[in-house]
Amino acid sequence: MKPHGPVYTLLCTTAVCAAGVLIGSCNSHGGQSMNPEEQDWKMQREQMVSQQIEARGVKDPLVLESMRGVQRHLFVPENFRDAAYHDSPLPIGDGQTISQPYIVALMTELLEVSPGAKVLEIGTGSGYQAAVLAAMEVEVHSIEIRPRLCEHATSTLAELGYASAHVRCGDGYGGWPEEAPFDGIIVTAAPERIPDPLLEQLAEGANMVIPVGDFYQELKVITRTPEGFEERSVIPVRFVPMTGEIERQETR
Ligand code: SAH
Repeated sequence: MKPHGPVYTLLCTTAVCAAGVLIGSCNSHGGQSMNPEEQDWKMQREQMVSQQIEARGVKDPLVLESMRGVQRHLFVPENFRDAAYHDSPLPIGDGQTISQPYIVALMTELLEVSPGAKVLEIGTGSGYQAAVLAAMEVEVHSIEIRPRLCEHATSTLAELGYASAHVRCGDGYGGWPEEAPFDGIIVTAAPERIPDPLLEQLAEGANMVIPVGDFYQELKVITRTPEGFEERSVIPVRFVPMTGEIERQETR
């Protein structure tokens, strides 16, 4: 006998829900139900990962999972929130930008780090890249030269609970020697020449991912080997310039 319409629907919904709880779905998010707005942001993140990131060849499951989870819209200014998951960089104030999602994913993958690793980031900006690493259980030490951005990123990361992301305000030229060596170094502002202190703070076998150049920039991966450093170019990129000490040296 066919169950009565509403009863059938109810039973069915309960069954789907029970199965959903078992596999961690059914509108649940860390044990709490997700409101329609959060559902929409989540869907936009799923699309961002499949259409912009996986489609261009990023494969590291840990990176993809992190990009699906970190709420990028909370790292961009409110008036750009609706564009947070678009395939483009966005302004974050002070003439600076948060990188395009694909570039964040690619750079994170190129670092080749695992949970528990210690990474140095130069150019905290909005704090989004630091959050993507922290969500992978990486300990991040990030330096931002612009005080306003630095303070804002520090509070965003704290409010969202990324306790393994540590931010310091100042020039990243000299790195963070007290915490060196690092299992990875990611630089998100472009110098014309790689600062020596950063090379010195890279652990053996570790990668530095860095845009190098002036108007024309190349995204480079520098690997520290027992003999020295190996370098390869990945793709042409466009980052804001690294300022501070490196600029003073470049104009000398
Ligand atoms: N990773 C950031 C985007 C960075 S934009 C994010 O996820 O949002 C580049 C940032 O590098 C800018 O905020 C800029 O102020 C900063 N920057 C430039 N030169 C720097 C330096 N010498 N030391 C530290 N930060 C620097």
